[in-house]
Amino acid sequence: MTERTFSIIKPDATKRNLTGKINAVIEDAGLRIVAQRRIRMTEAQAKAFYEVHKERPFYGELVETMTSAPVVVQVLEGDNAVAKYREVMGATNPEQAAAGTIRKLFALNVGENSVHGSDSQDNAKIEIAQFFTEDQIVG
Ligand code: ADP
Ligand code: MG
Repeated sequence: MTERTFSIIKPDATKRNLTGKINAVIEDAGLRIVAQRRIRMTEAQAKAFYEVHKERPFYGELVETMTSAPVVVQVLEGDNAVAKYREVMGATNPEQAAAGTIRKLFALNVGENSVHGSDSQDNAKIEIAQFFTEDQIVG
C-alpha cells in the first residue's frame, strides 16, 4: 500500500555534505521524495519532536545535536514507506546496522546516526504535520 513517512537528514550528515548521497540511497530503494526543506531546527521544535524520549538520559544531548546545524526534513512516499525506510536506514546503532543501510554507510555513532525515520504510520502522520502542510507535499 502506498503510504508516507517522515525523514530527517540529521546535522552530522548535512555538515559532511551527505544530503545528496543519502537521497540517492532513498531513491534507489524506490522511495519518492515528495517534500523536502532544509531548516535550522529550533530548540522548541527539537524538544517537541523528541518528546517521547524526554525521560531518557540522552534527551538533552539529542536536542543539542539536532539543533547544532541544519537538517533536511522530508516526506517520503512509496509502498510500505514506513517499514521500508526503517529497513533502508538500518539499526539505531550503526555498529549493528546491516551492510548497505544509510546508517552503516554514513553514521558516526548511536547519537550521530545521520537519519531519522518514523516508526509507525500514526507517528508518520504526526511528524509530517509538525513540519509540512498538505499543499507542500507533491506526490
Ligand atoms: P531511532 O532513531 O532508530 O528510531 P530511537 O527512537 O530509539 O532510535 O532514538 C531516537 C534517537 O535518539 C536516535 O536516532 C539517536 O539519535 C538518539 N539515541 C538513541 N539512543 C541513544 C543512545 N544510547 N545514546 C545517544 N543517543 C541515542
Ligand atoms: Mg525512533
